[in-house]
Amino acid sequence: MYPEHDFEQLTKEPPTANCKDPEQVLHDVFGYETFRPLQGDIVREVVNGGDALVLMPTGGGKSLCYQVPALVRPGTAIVISPLIALMQDQVNALRELGVRAAFLNSSMDFEQARATEYALMTGELDLLYCAPERLIQPRTIELLHNASLSLFAIDEAHCVSQWGHDFRSDYLQLSMLAEAFPGIPRIALTATADERTRKEIAERLSLTQARHFISGFDRPNIQYRITPKTNANKQLLDFIKAEHAGDCGIVYCLSRNKVDATAKLLASKGYTALPYHAGLTSEQRSRNQDRFLREDGVIVVATIAFGMGIDKPDVRFVAHMDLPKSLEAYYQETGRAGRDGKPSTAWMVYGLQDVIKLRQMLEASQGNDQFKRVERQKLDAMLGLCEVTQCRRQVLLRYFGDTLEQPCGNCDSCLNPPETWDGSVAVQKALSCVFRTGQRYGVNYLIDVLRGSENERIVQAGHQAISTYGIGTELSANEWKSVFRQLVANGYLRADPDGYGAMQLTEQCRPLLKGDQRIELRKDPVVKASTGSKSSGKRSGQNLRDQITDHEGWEALRACRKALADKQGVPPYVIFHDTTLFDMLERRPTTLEELGEVSGVGAAKLEKYGDIFLETLRGIGQA
Ligand code: ADP
Ligand code: ZN
Repeated sequence: MYPEHDFEQLTKEPPTANCKDPEQVLHDVFGYETFRPLQGDIVREVVNGGDALVLMPTGGGKSLCYQVPALVRPGTAIVISPLIALMQDQVNALRELGVRAAFLNSSMDFEQARATEYALMTGELDLLYCAPERLIQPRTIELLHNASLSLFAIDEAHCVSQWGHDFRSDYLQLSMLAEAFPGIPRIALTATADERTRKEIAERLSLTQARHFISGFDRPNIQYRITPKTNANKQLLDFIKAEHAGDCGIVYCLSRNKVDATAKLLASKGYTALPYHAGLTSEQRSRNQDRFLREDGVIVVATIAFGMGIDKPDVRFVAHMDLPKSLEAYYQETGRAGRDGKPSTAWMVYGLQDVIKLRQMLEASQGNDQFKRVERQKLDAMLGLCEVTQCRRQVLLRYFGDTLEQPCGNCDSCLNPPETWDGSVAVQKALSCVFRTGQRYGVNYLIDVLRGSENERIVQAGHQAISTYGIGTELSANEWKSVFRQLVANGYLRADPDGYGAMQLTEQCRPLLKGDQRIELRKDPVVKASTGSKSSGKRSGQNLRDQITDHEGWEALRACRKALADKQGVPPYVIFHDTTLFDMLERRPTTLEELGEVSGVGAAKLEKYGDIFLETLRGIGQA
């Protein structure tokens, strides 16, 4: 295990008053050439003592926004982060860079906490990570008053919002930092916040005076795909096999049972797939999370309980087997793919049952009317994304207040433009059938009536006699399902919240029913026996692995990295990211100086690992 409180080995001089240049720190410590757009502005604002509210998509590079100022300003930066399990990794990664970092949380014993507190008091720390519940203890506050502080960074700041799904009551108390520590700059960061949540964050954290930095929401390297559900398990297997065999990924399911079943299914096909949900013991959970972080090619199958704060850079796909409740949740979950900027896939299957289930859950939920109204709007937006026939990215970004002028070219709508058809007549038949049968039946029954089935229930109910019996033979049962799904998704029909999903008409459907309004429907793509390959021709060359020509070299570099990682008990990406190995393979440096130019190789890592990687590269050259 990496020595936890071995401060002696960190020999860097304490930072002295504003003498360092942020660009220099970026290059020397982190090994990067330039700041990304906005990063530079944010860093300058905080270095100069200003407050900041930062909204940046996952993978946008939020950490550097406080880590660089932490190294430039004198004193220790306090980083408030909600996830104890991940602090260790963040601290390890910083120590790898030669930065003096430590954490304070409930996972450590008294001795360890004391040693860390001592290091803080004596100015031996550049950054101290702290759990919110720990920070707000009077003892900790007093400790901080006696230390020299450079800044406060509040990570995952949306946890302060009661509307969001990650609400943490401890976060509410962080507002006191403003009064208790006037003059110490505070920077709050989040990847998910619509305008309302943003305002809430600013108010609750007393950051109304802070400059807001809102970066574009687009994640161009993520390919968005949403497919109608036919046989979800098979669709998932086909997708992974065709496009992401051997890759690391996350599969989200709504229920624990489904998580377990899906993990088993994947394991039976030879994948390393691990479950993650609240029904497992915390040891099981942390063991599985650990393997996900440390091993190559692990797939985690999880409920939404998994993922916040996971900053693994090389997650190549995120698959949704069930529909998330909102676009915020969808964007946050899919955003865990491709933080390294390399091509990744956000894949989802959804079907009529998902739509019905979510609508029912919402109507049956506790919550007052206003709450339900907001939730309903959110679900509508999510369903809108599923059914849209234009570019999905344009819809997503518009929702977050961003605009994309041109269709993106990297979503399923752009790659395989869906056909539409004039569904006016079919819709009229469907709605009329709902009406004639008394709004008491579910979709399967209605389809049987439309297609003129002679099943017993229909006969007994006398529905062979109604005018809509057998008037829908021109469409297959699946095509009718697609019609009903779109009607529910678009709010023309709703599922009875108390019963078994009986279809009921809404006010909205009147003009359709009377034939006064035309409607275009999405034609669901025909699913062939073996899917996944239909459009993959267009996508090949997308995958990171497809871009690697020297596979032996790649494997050699990875083996070298893995050996170093195992020796130190850290995940491989803490040594170097895939992107850094990729750059090495491209550039083939032969000297330490050349190696230092590779993106992601800072001074500390060059010194520690330079020789061994150069040797590995020489070995590749000879092969
Ligand atoms: P976030 O916290 O916003 O999700 P991270 O801070 O984890 O994102 O950064 C995402 C990835 O981008 C990391 O691998 C990080 O090292 C890399 N990165 C951040 N800033 C830069 C930069 N200026 N140049 C190169 N890589 C960067
Ligand atoms: Zn698109």
